Amino acid sequence: MKRLSGEEILFEYVKDLRYAPQTAALEIDKLPKSRQRLGEELLLLGESLKGRDLIGLGGRAFEAFAESSSERYLFMCNMDTNVSRWSRSIVEEFDLPGEYMHDAGNIWLERIHPDDRELYLSDLEAVFTGRKKYHDVTYRARNRAGIYILCTCKGYLLKADGDGPDIFAGTIYNHGVIDDVDSVTNLYNVYKLMDTLRKCKTAEQPVNLLMVGLSQFRRVNNTYGYICGNQILQMFGQKLRDLLRGHGMVFRLNGTKFALLTVVAGYEDTQRLYQKASDIARNELYLGASRVSLALCGGALSFRKIEAEETAVLAELEYALSISKQEEQGELVYFDDSRHGSTRRKLEMIDAIIRSVLYQDFSGFYLMYQPQVQIDGTVIGAEALVRWKSEEWGVVPPIEFIPILENDRCFYELGLWILQTALGSTRPIVEMHPDFKISVNVSYRQLEHVAFKTDVISIVRRMDFPPENLILELTEHCSSVQQAILQENLDYLRAQGIHIAADDFGTGHSSLALLRDLSFDSIKIDRKFVADIVVNPADQYILKSTIQCARDFGISVCVEGVEDVETLEVVDSYKPNTYQGFLFSRPIMLEQLEELFEEPGNPRIVVEA
Ligand code: C2E
Ligand code: MG
Ligand code: MG
Repeated sequence: MKRLSGEEILFEYVKDLRYAPQTAALEIDKLPKSRQRLGEELLLLGESLKGRDLIGLGGRAFEAFAESSSERYLFMCNMDTNVSRWSRSIVEEFDLPGEYMHDAGNIWLERIHPDDRELYLSDLEAVFTGRKKYHDVTYRARNRAGIYILCTCKGYLLKADGDGPDIFAGTIYNHGVIDDVDSVTNLYNVYKLMDTLRKCKTAEQPVNLLMVGLSQFRRVNNTYGYICGNQILQMFGQKLRDLLRGHGMVFRLNGTKFALLTVVAGYEDTQRLYQKASDIARNELYLGASRVSLALCGGALSFRKIEAEETAVLAELEYALSISKQEEQGELVYFDDSRHGSTRRKLEMIDAIIRSVLYQDFSGFYLMYQPQVQIDGTVIGAEALVRWKSEEWGVVPPIEFIPILENDRCFYELGLWILQTALGSTRPIVEMHPDFKISVNVSYRQLEHVAFKTDVISIVRRMDFPPENLILELTEHCSSVQQAILQENLDYLRAQGIHIAADDFGTGHSSLALLRDLSFDSIKIDRKFVADIVVNPADQYILKSTIQCARDFGISVCVEGVEDVETLEVVDSYKPNTYQGFLFSRPIMLEQLEELFEEPGNPRIVVEA
């Protein structure tokens, strides 16, 4: 590419400026709000040049704008000559050859982080070929000191009206070196989202949040490798930004989740937005020439104003997303003030529960214990079941808060508290009844925590609790944790003598595969298969074959949810090992459990035929 001499540049620049007044044709009102400032700047520049000494004044106008901010740089390019002028401050900060540059796009490209170049070039290409109206992209650029700085570049291509050149002009915003940006996609991260929500709350602004997650992304990483996986995330993030085009903010949360904070309100609009995001994921992501088609799941919340803590809002949003993924095959799950009148109240409750974990030493939490029995009623153990109670909310069952709280970081602490309380409370029973086993529920979120297995062991040791008397119940959702992590945890804990049970067995998608791939000591068959067993031959068949299958694997079986004698009769004919159900006992308080175990020898709960 031919480089121009200084004089030639000046000449081209003068030519360039002569056409600048055409920017007066720009209709600012028709521009989206976020662009209007840029439009005004251009317009002002054009106005100030009309019929004047173009060289001097134009130069000064540009200078004035360029000097007006040290973080926002200005650039302006004559597309015919490819000569452009950039603010002096960007020239200094990024060590560019000079204010006037020929082929500045390529000079600038060298400063851009290699991982972000594709993004930058494809966005420019989209603008120059007319597929996109505005250049708007965020990337990292290396400054004079060799440090990458986050920059958002916004540009507008002003097509020639008559015989002038096209002009491409805009601003580059220097965000500096900041820590609220995700390094893969250059989108804001979860901290920025929390911060933004806090500000919306203070300002009592309406909030519309859509969270989307790319499903089965592991497939992409496995097929194309991690780096390509990152490229896809980056491309998807950029396309989400394009989709909002300044009418909102896009954040990348952990993994493959993104959040869109928008001005779009109402179910229909949110649904449309989600549909567009789904289309992008399905049809518009490419690695070279090959299309990578992905499915989305999505959850959305809409508030006229936020009254809960932002962590509760996020937890609720994550919950909506998880329902979309696990139960709704990717359909959008939407909560708002009107459609779910209780949502706000529920958020306040979750808020209160989170506070109690974080600041009030778990006040309001307590455990109940549901006995587990053999067919003759001999109690051989109990499951610890958490509850939360407060003056305002009464007794809240776990199903009301666990699925939501699981998405909050405080849940890990709560899990440890539950384990410690269950072991501490039942240790005296174990001392007198060495075959008593306490079952404690573990959520997959806990397993994902790197310290989980060592934390469990240190609690067991601290409580001086025999590990063989502890059963950890893992729900089937645990299968969404990476197999290797799951396996490693299970192996470690089992090696220490702790038993592992698969809870809610049969409700997930991969029950039998779980039995094959992981080493469980027992399974708990969900009460869903038991509720209609007396009249439902299909359930009878499922229960019978599952019990048979487990027996063949050498795994013991507990059947949950037996509520009456008729059910017990049918279930008993398949010979599971143990039962847990209202027929024998509802969950009871610790004192009642202690009373049962007052005498030596295991108590029996006899049921009336
Ligand atoms: P789960 O672990 O499957 O616990 C059994 C649930 O079934 C308990 O409900 C129990 O009260 C109920 N149940 C037992 N027998 C019968 C019956 O015959 N009929 C009926 N209708 N229900 C019966 P609960 O206590 O409401 O717990 C619900 C779920 O909440 C639990 O299901 C578990 O997934 C979760 N959960 C409870 N406590 C904890 C905990 O400490 N940690 C974690 N991570 N999850 C917990
Ligand atoms: Mg359980
Ligand atoms: Mg269960």
